[in-house]
Amino acid sequence: MKPPIFEYASPLTVAEAVSLLASRNGNAKVISGGQSLMPMLAFRLAAPELLVDLKHLKDLGAIRIGEDGVRLGARVRWCDIESDARLAVSHPLLAEAIKHVAHYQIRNRGTVGGSVAHADPSAEMPGIAMTCDAQMKIVGSAGTRIEAAADFFTGPLQTSLEQDEILTEVHLPAWPAARRWAFLEFARRKGDFAMAGVALYYDLDSGSRITDAHIGAIGVADRPIRLTEAEAVLNGNQMSDKLIAAASAKARQSIDPPSDIHAPGAYRAALVATLLGRGLKKSAA
Ligand SMILES: Cc1cc2nc3c(=O)[nH]c(=O)nc-3n(C[C@H](O)[C@H](O)[C@H](O)COP(=O)(O)OP(=O)(O)OC[C@H]3O[C@@H](n4cnc5c(N)ncnc54)[C@H](O)[C@@H]3O)c2cc1C
Repeated sequence: MKPPIFEYASPLTVAEAVSLLASRNGNAKVISGGQSLMPMLAFRLAAPELLVDLKHLKDLGAIRIGEDGVRLGARVRWCDIESDARLAVSHPLLAEAIKHVAHYQIRNRGTVGGSVAHADPSAEMPGIAMTCDAQMKIVGSAGTRIEAAADFFTGPLQTSLEQDEILTEVHLPAWPAARRWAFLEFARRKGDFAMAGVALYYDLDSGSRITDAHIGAIGVADRPIRLTEAEAVLNGNQMSDKLIAAASAKARQSIDPPSDIHAPGAYRAALVATLLGRGLKKSAA
């Protein structure tokens, strides 16, 4: 299907892009990789007057790694993450999760900013942002603001972004070398959106007790979520089969996923418990 007619602009600066968005009172949309937006236009789920293409904003394409963590520019593509060997050490959870995103062709164009702004509840990058307490850098007519992932995702395909705002960077806090982690998801076919997925990490104190457990889940709510009750089961305890069973059971009880054509909610809840159990075993190995 052909998209509706739209005007097209390709600004050279973020300020110019913001000003173009602001000029249309909500009738302009950013286009980044186009992998979610173009299908939405084709299906008439969106019909903006103007598309503001970010492709010339080269500075948004950088992956910056420093002592304070990993900063992903909004134009960083999945294939850029895959091919950046530094991330295997600097953020192995991110590197692993992105391997599950879509297919080769889509990974060549799809971007971090597009995925996070699109806010699909089953998408990997929003799940990682939520699990890792990412900070979003957002630029709009009113200036620059930083927002925590927990406040950024507000519902299915919904975020706190205003009509004249552009997400420019996702900042993942520093990753200690000894951190334990795992990412697991289940999809019917490789490259499909996950039916459900679990991202987790934790540190160990001098007594091998779990501290700072973070567990995120995708595909089980209207947005990516943290499984805080299961995290509380883990914190302060040493890993054991009994603890893994208790955390998995708590995860299952604490969520109420919606049913759809792909799976009933109860199946998704059971899936999360299974993925969490496997992830915890893997992280401890
Ligand atoms: C067949 C298929 C399978 C897929 N499977 C997966 C999958 O398994 N996992 C997964 O995570 N994704 C999957 N995707 C989605 C893919 O990862 C997209 O690339 C991604 O969701 C959107 O990124 P984009 O750069 O293409 O954004 P676009 O399509 O260009 O934009 C998406 C939305 O975000 C807005 N936007 C884009 N960039 C910004 C910005 N910087 N600031 C503000 N708003 C912005 C746009 O206005 C639009 O509303 C799949 C897509 C397809 C077509």
